[in-house]
Amino acid sequence: MKDSRQVIPLFDLNYGQEEEEAVLRVLRRKWLTMGEEIDALEREFASFCGVRHALAVSSCTAALHLANIASGVQPGFEVICPSLTFAATVNAVIYAGGLPVFADITSEDDWTISPDAILKKITPRTKAIVVMHYGGFACRMEEILNIARAHKIVVIEDAAHSPGSTYRGSRLGAIGDISCFSFFSNKNISTGEGGMICTDNDEYARQIKSVRSHGMTSGTVDRHRGHAFSYDVTALGYNYRLDEIHAALGRVQLKKLEEGNSRRRQAARCYKNGLKQIKEIKIPFAERRDEEANYHIFPILLADSVDRLDLMSYLREKDIQTSIHYPPVHSFSFHRRHFKAPDMPLTEYVAAHELTLPMFVGITFEQIDFIINALIEYFRI
Ligand SMILES: *Cc1c(COP(=O)(O)O)cnc(C)c1O
Repeated sequence: MKDSRQVIPLFDLNYGQEEEEAVLRVLRRKWLTMGEEIDALEREFASFCGVRHALAVSSCTAALHLANIASGVQPGFEVICPSLTFAATVNAVIYAGGLPVFADITSEDDWTISPDAILKKITPRTKAIVVMHYGGFACRMEEILNIARAHKIVVIEDAAHSPGSTYRGSRLGAIGDISCFSFFSNKNISTGEGGMICTDNDEYARQIKSVRSHGMTSGTVDRHRGHAFSYDVTALGYNYRLDEIHAALGRVQLKKLEEGNSRRRQAARCYKNGLKQIKEIKIPFAERRDEEANYHIFPILLADSVDRLDLMSYLREKDIQTSIHYPPVHSFSFHRRHFKAPDMPLTEYVAAHELTLPMFVGITFEQIDFIINALIEYFRI
């Protein structure tokens, strides 16, 4: 018989009364899209990140599509991207008509895109590099920016994992030319759906604003208020707007971000202490400074001797949820059918040995102990 123990989820929302009040505030105001919540969220996010422009969008996937468009990606151009990422990082290149060119990660310890691998993939057709800060750990931005500047290539940061993380004193998402954030349910800022695109470049911002809303010359608010009698459509646009309810939730979540990230760092320290004694488990990014990371997830690397699926079923029996970040994008059947499968031994090794343990703001030390003890028991130390 099972006891009444609660499942330890992979992720749990950090929601309370403030979120409820934010939603009610919008409902009572009776203005649902492109209003004061969006304006305020954009201002607050830009100031938090230290960027000139932050533009709210309906998802990080939309942000990535807009970033590719603004970078000038179109048929005939290539975009270098990682494969150890969520499929949207790569798919957004394809939406814009570009050809994704995969580059391997740096090492078994550093799971971000390798600057050396990037350099080898550059051709006269390379338009952009999309980097993804895995788990909120920064890519090697200094080397990547140097390569990009030398070859006149745009750097797009997929910062879906990284709100609040830093790299040598700068926020992730404020380093490349354009950056894309996700407010999907399981991210460090959760609104259900939603995202943000940031840039210091005024021309990119102007274009992104237009394409976000159908490529129209007048704004949504002006039309609704009757200030604009007509409009022109000057580019192929999309509806990638965010609404007021999600923006209001995003503002509360942004206020709670730093406190939440520091609780994630404490949880990570607790995990690391406990897992030290298990020789079958390695913790990646061992050399990184803890205070720069936001611990979006807690990934571990299993030794060759471990049967990952067996371990995952064992943990599920103990009501501990786990996941894999990520099956490599180049291995999916769609991507294999359409794009060259390159040689990426490190990506493939890490993807085959990675396991993600529960990590969220409200995880307790008791829960982490329970997980560590379950692992110790499994490996029978
Ligand atoms: C979640 C995620 C996305 C997609 O974000 P959405 O807001 O769901 O579109 C893109 N890239 C990475 C790395 C992600 O983790």
